Amino acid sequence: MRKYVIMGVQGSGKGTQSQLLREEFDLVHISVGDIFRWHVRNHTKLGAQVRRIMAAGSLVDDDLVESVVRRRLDEHDWNYGFIIDGFPRNGRQAEFFMESYDIDAVIHLELPDDEVRRRVLSRRLCPNCGMDYNLIADRPEQEGRCDICGHELVTRADDTPEALEARLRDYHEKTRPVLELFRRKEVVHDVDGRPPLEEVQQAIRDTLGLPAYKG
Ligand code: AMP
Repeated sequence: MRKYVIMGVQGSGKGTQSQLLREEFDLVHISVGDIFRWHVRNHTKLGAQVRRIMAAGSLVDDDLVESVVRRRLDEHDWNYGFIIDGFPRNGRQAEFFMESYDIDAVIHLELPDDEVRRRVLSRRLCPNCGMDYNLIADRPEQEGRCDICGHELVTRADDTPEALEARLRDYHEKTRPVLELFRRKEVVHDVDGRPPLEEVQQAIRDTLGLPAYKG
């Protein structure tokens, strides 16, 4: 059983790297942001509660986030483990998480803010299957269309310059202290998020002692 948290500022490649680990090690990938986006897309009550907060790049209320995470983990469909992405994002969420679950490692993807801005503002998303693209490094084969399902790509509502600055501020103020909490438990593995995604994946595997990435 492998229980990982992946942390890093928006655009650092958490989703992509989690996906690669999930595929090979049969992990359940839990992205709180994806869960919220699903609710917004499907016009659920929860979706209505979080839509504006997300579009502004602000953080959703801790109680709501915790109940979403708890419900997801309570499904117990993670026989081989999980990788949780986008959570915890502040001290309170970290404490809730550490009280309820033990984790093996925190993967921390490091990326300078300027590179974050460059990446995030060129990010596109398939609203149908959730696939992420980047107009700089990971272009779709056909412009504006998803390679997997052919749906038209969109810009995430929170990938605007204003929302990005709000998220960067939040990250530095609230999420960095979470890393410090985890550091005290000696579970943090720092990984440089700048190289091509295959190299980042290999670096993650090296530091976690996992088998090599074969691409
Ligand atoms: P993400 O895809 O992880 O960037 O999340 C998108 C948005 O969902 C964030 O900007 C927040 O509004 C909300 N969100 C996701 N995870 C959390 C969390 N752990 N705490 C509070 N809000 C969150």
